[in-house]
Amino acid sequence: MEVIDVDKAEAVANVLKTVGVKRDNYLDPRLYPPPDDPLEDQIGYFVAMTAIDHRTSLWEPFEGVVEGEFFHGADLLYRLGRLAYGRGFFKADKLAQLRPDEADVLLSINGKRVWDFHTRVLLLRDVGKKALRIGGFANIPRDSLKKLKETIKQMRAYEDPVEKKVLLLAKFLDGRRLADFKDIEEADVPVDNHVSRIAYRLGIVDLNYDFLESGVETTREEDIRLRELVKTAWRIVAKFADLHPFALDDYLWNFGRRICTRENPKCDACPFKDVCKAHSLRRYPPEHLHLATWYY
Ligand code: SF4
Repeated sequence: MEVIDVDKAEAVANVLKTVGVKRDNYLDPRLYPPPDDPLEDQIGYFVAMTAIDHRTSLWEPFEGVVEGEFFHGADLLYRLGRLAYGRGFFKADKLAQLRPDEADVLLSINGKRVWDFHTRVLLLRDVGKKALRIGGFANIPRDSLKKLKETIKQMRAYEDPVEKKVLLLAKFLDGRRLADFKDIEEADVPVDNHVSRIAYRLGIVDLNYDFLESGVETTREEDIRLRELVKTAWRIVAKFADLHPFALDDYLWNFGRRICTRENPKCDACPFKDVCKAHSLRRYPPEHLHLATWYY
């Protein structure tokens, strides 16, 4: 039976206090809209892009060169999104009528579509329709995270009970100063496969590695239960480290892609190696397997 290891969470938090965790401001002009653009456009971009921000590489990597620069996975999605934004792609009325052939500019590279292309088109259409129903993207609540969660869950893309996408959206809006959430206690790390894997390897969620290494896909219910546990474990770490959960997530996002990678983690360069369960066992399991989802 898996449990949260509170002592391990404190040990991880103590290391985090030494590594200089910083917030991102999401202003990279290659990936995000200019900060002086109309609110409706900027918020529409983040609501729509976060709605389709889930696993991009399943059968084969989603990657390619855009304007002379190589991008992979979510970076490629946001690079293509930024270019589509420049052509007015993210207006609510346009999204509501989006056709598959129009979505290729966002969801394909070199003639290859992302693995669940049609699901993402449906999610974008739904986002557009529901934004129109509330009078536009700029009308989503931006002073209360609780209210944002309640409103945005009407969109199919955001129905995950563990709230990965709404927390990611809140992180973007907060980091860009497009929102001013008064209820910080509602914030958590958005739980995806990367932060789950790191939690299992560090041992803040202590579970049987044989299960993770089995390659058997979990049910939807099991996936939700495990990610809730991961979310709580990171909440405890953030409290011990006195970190905003969104700042912690910015750190984990880079850490999971550069150091604690799914294959061949770079333990020699890792600040957590002295407290890491996986490193002490010399076993480096992946995250639990749950592939057929748009929740994360
Ligand atoms: S020591 Fe290795 S397995 Fe453990 S968190 Fe660091 S990179 Fe990941």
